[in-house]
Amino acid sequence: MIHIGCHLSSSRGFLHMGKEAVSIGANTFQFFTRNPRGSKAKEIDPKDVEAYLAFAKEHEIGTIVAHAPYTLNACSADEKVREFARLTMEDDLRRMEYLPGNLYNFHPGSHVGQGTQRGIELISDLLNELLSPDLHTTVLLETMAGKGSEIGGRFEELAAVMERVECSEKLGVCLDTCHVYDGGYDIVQDLDGVLEEFDRVIGLDRLKAVHVNDSKNPFASHKDRHEKIGEGSLGLEALYRVVHHPALCGLPFCLETPNELDGYAAEIRMLR
Ligand code: FE
Ligand code: FE
Ligand code: ZN
Repeated sequence: MIHIGCHLSSSRGFLHMGKEAVSIGANTFQFFTRNPRGSKAKEIDPKDVEAYLAFAKEHEIGTIVAHAPYTLNACSADEKVREFARLTMEDDLRRMEYLPGNLYNFHPGSHVGQGTQRGIELISDLLNELLSPDLHTTVLLETMAGKGSEIGGRFEELAAVMERVECSEKLGVCLDTCHVYDGGYDIVQDLDGVLEEFDRVIGLDRLKAVHVNDSKNPFASHKDRHEKIGEGSLGLEALYRVVHHPALCGLPFCLETPNELDGYAAEIRMLR
């Protein structure tokens, strides 16, 4: 079964997201753990979670993906920003325990001039602080477009972070199609080759989720601007091949395209 869905607003709770997902033909979804620009998170309502879990079971909603706020930068040069990253991720992972067995994705961060090596150290230091064997969530590093001083534009950088993390069984990767294509991995002409490279450098067993986005920019542009499916430089055919690739079978695929619900519904239908 293909698990495909999109990014939904979490402002009205989990049951609401579950119902929205089903209404657009989705059987997974992604949501922000709090306002994407940061700020305080709403406390979890256990009744909402309970209702959601029953609904999800009934409607066969699979693994879901929480997304950390964009303002979270684990490798900032500013101690206060790093402290915000630590407190935010710690609190997000605490709230994720209400929904055991799901995924928490974050952008590795930007080293802002400190150098890639220092960035890798700071990200893995934070993960070593927060990941423990009793956690019921898998934390995902997202593949990035390599914009500015972003860590994660190369598979090697993600592998280097992962090598330094002790509790590696709680750590995985989320592959974003727009980001990797912008980052210089040609999944349009050579999807198999890119997946082989991913397997060699990181290991395909570490790939836990996929963001399915078209890109507004050409190959290797290092820009990170998402486009609707079929309207960008990747195209529908290439993205269809991603969703149906045997090596990615069973992973949650989440659209993060510029759409309202009806647009997402149409894209989910096209990709199925
Ligand atoms: Fe992201
Ligand atoms: Fe993404
Ligand atoms: Zn993006």
